[in-house]
Amino acid sequence: MSLPSRASYRDIPLYSPSKARCRVDLSDNTNLFGMPPAAERVLRETASSQVGRYPVGYSPDLREAVARYTGVDASRVTTGCGSDDVIDSTLRAFLEPGELIAFPSPTFVMMSYFAKVNGLRYAPVKLRPDFDIDVDGLLATGAKLLYVCSPNNPTGTVASRAALERLVEQAPGLVLLDEAYAEFARESHLDLASRPNVLVTRTMSKAFGLASMRVGYAVGAPGLVAEVEKARGPYKVTGLSERMAVAALSEDVPWMRARVDESLAIRERLVGELKGLGLSTLPTEANFVMAPLRGALAVAEKMRARDVNVRAFAGLPGIGDALRIGCGPWNLMEAALDALREALR
Ligand code: PMP
Repeated sequence: MSLPSRASYRDIPLYSPSKARCRVDLSDNTNLFGMPPAAERVLRETASSQVGRYPVGYSPDLREAVARYTGVDASRVTTGCGSDDVIDSTLRAFLEPGELIAFPSPTFVMMSYFAKVNGLRYAPVKLRPDFDIDVDGLLATGAKLLYVCSPNNPTGTVASRAALERLVEQAPGLVLLDEAYAEFARESHLDLASRPNVLVTRTMSKAFGLASMRVGYAVGAPGLVAEVEKARGPYKVTGLSERMAVAALSEDVPWMRARVDESLAIRERLVGELKGLGLSTLPTEANFVMAPLRGALAVAEKMRARDVNVRAFAGLPGIGDALRIGCGPWNLMEAALDALREALR
């Protein structure tokens, strides 16, 4: 007898983030400058007696801390086990299997995976040559949910305010704006979450340096947030993660801003060094740089042999092959540049 399985899952491969264990890992755009100090204190001081109890369902303390950090009311905040969980729950909350979502291409690779595991159809719409989103193309899909990531992973490029405004005005359904890298960008569009058809997701994994704790959140109208909470259910943020994220949002914002400034300075240095190697880079507002490079997969493989992990892409629409390199302390960037120089020889 064959094992039980869901028919629509049979052709979906397990998403594997290819975590090569390298000494220098610049593959996932996390904050490599250490831990936010208040969150670290909570980690050290959390009593073992607290571990045996469930956290309070729906993370009220975290919602309050996000509300203070983002300047909205807590009724407009929902949280999850990373923003992955929030995005996945949002798809389940608002779409029936078989319905259509659309997103720019290239964008966050998990979007097609989340669509598949939720039984949704999806329409990728190529970014414009200037890397802004193609608003008319996205609207023309007629999709019930439009996802936009800005700054965009993997390109680092941003959607313009004018394009986002028009998308939100004219979208037939929900706009899900992924601001995982907002803290690194010149401009945030969190204010769009005051519109009745917009959810903005954010994460503690990138600028705040808490990727392993798995905390993400979304901001939007209370009615939208309530639907996401239904789909996600309680207890997805662990008690320890909630306490650490609350500490980080309440006390570690100056630490985070200083690390962001450091990342941006290092990013500019990295761009210069890559130019020196004859590579071009896309205009980025995130803590990573995308460099189009023919044969990027093979180059990344050679870099891994030198204990440096960067992300490589093949055949991206409008871009081709490319490397995506995250920014960390300069000694890590030097190791990456040495490995890249060797790989390009
Ligand atoms: N959105 C984007 C654009 C990302 O790059 C990532 C992380 N790779 C996520 C969402 C998910 O992050 P997390 O689940 O850690 O919050």
